Amino acid sequence: MQNTNDVLAMDRRHAWHPYASVTEPLPVYDVVSASGVRLTLADGRELVDGMASWWCAVHGYNHPALNRAAEAQLGKMAHVMFGGITHEPAARLCARLAELAPGDLNRVFLCDSGSVSVEVAMKMAMQYMAARGDSRRCRFLTVRRGYHGDTFHAMSVCDPVNGMHSLFAGALPKQYFAPEPSVPFGGEWNEAELAPLVDLLEQKGDDICAMILEPVVQGAGGMRFYHPEYLRRLRDICDRAGILLIFDEIATGFGRSGEFWGADHAGVAPDIMCVGKAITGGYMALGATIATDHVAETICSADPGLFMHGPTFMGNPLACAVANASLDLLESDPWRPRVAAIESQMRRELSPCAELPHVADVRVLGAIGVIELDRPVVMAEIQRQFVERGVWVRPFGKLVYVMPPYVMEQNDLSLLTSAMCDVVRDDNGIRQGA
Ligand code: PLP
Repeated sequence: MQNTNDVLAMDRRHAWHPYASVTEPLPVYDVVSASGVRLTLADGRELVDGMASWWCAVHGYNHPALNRAAEAQLGKMAHVMFGGITHEPAARLCARLAELAPGDLNRVFLCDSGSVSVEVAMKMAMQYMAARGDSRRCRFLTVRRGYHGDTFHAMSVCDPVNGMHSLFAGALPKQYFAPEPSVPFGGEWNEAELAPLVDLLEQKGDDICAMILEPVVQGAGGMRFYHPEYLRRLRDICDRAGILLIFDEIATGFGRSGEFWGADHAGVAPDIMCVGKAITGGYMALGATIATDHVAETICSADPGLFMHGPTFMGNPLACAVANASLDLLESDPWRPRVAAIESQMRRELSPCAELPHVADVRVLGAIGVIELDRPVVMAEIQRQFVERGVWVRPFGKLVYVMPPYVMEQNDLSLLTSAMCDVVRDDNGIRQGA
């Protein structure tokens, strides 16, 4: 077994971390195990995890039921191709996702990540229009401040400024951007909100195949919560314009915003829905794109008579088995009251931060708690401060936020929220004058 210095040295020399420099790397922490809501570092320290590994580990780590599902499936087969073959874990997962999804989203295309599920959704929308003899409709409408992933078509619908992809602008397909929804969740609905989007559609709508957006919560593009009425109105606008509506539920799905789907806040069903992240409770990489029967059947009714996509690890049995076990937990475990309790505790404990210098806003929805600063954090410094306080929080830009596992107990959540307030109060971790 390697000691932690060896691990860190190998990492430093050979690993390339997400959105990271190899020449001026920020510190990384060597995690040797994780259980419940705690990560254990190589030096024995335990950190209460506020990130759920980027929204995924909703049941906590090392969960006996998820472990059992993975172990049982390993004894049968870890993987088998999905072309010409099916298996119980995938078939059952597809049936359950179709049952859980709103409206008549009945046809599930499994894939291996959130970004790929967005690529698949966008290809479906283009192929749908081509099948209807309208192949010039191959562009997308979206809103600013969105985030949909790091692959090329997904990048093209991320916010052009905040979306982290401006460097690639020259290579990205040009899409249409309406202003971001501005009426906050819980605010007073303003009918004028959608006027620019309607204008855009009227002027440029002829080459648009679909509107894509994150329902109710804009995640990595700014952790913004907007009014669900926006989605209800959008459903109607898309229908009238004859374009498809795609919801990216990759971050919001499986209860994170307090409802099972973000779309449930609005009671609206899209034509295509992307899921990922928490689908396996954070155990394995898996995504899915769910289409209505109408979309799926239209695509397959025209030349070439099939949908043109098929990843190697599509329907991976291990991932599907764990996803089924995670859905079992969501069915048997009281996730809704847990998320509601996390929400009210975070509201209580984070709201005093609104008075602190450099704090622009404090907001909470479901199991998402956000402190927005008026300037960016100094990542290495703020990260160190959180670790010193025994918690794992990974801010980005001006956002110090948490999305804890739903199983987090009150005292652990208090540790997280008090660390957030302390670190924001002590502004060494906030770039002076930036
Ligand atoms: N869509 C949304 C809303 C996301 O939040 C993310 C990831 O953060 C993605 C898509 C991309 O998912 P992945 O990182 O699994 O490719």
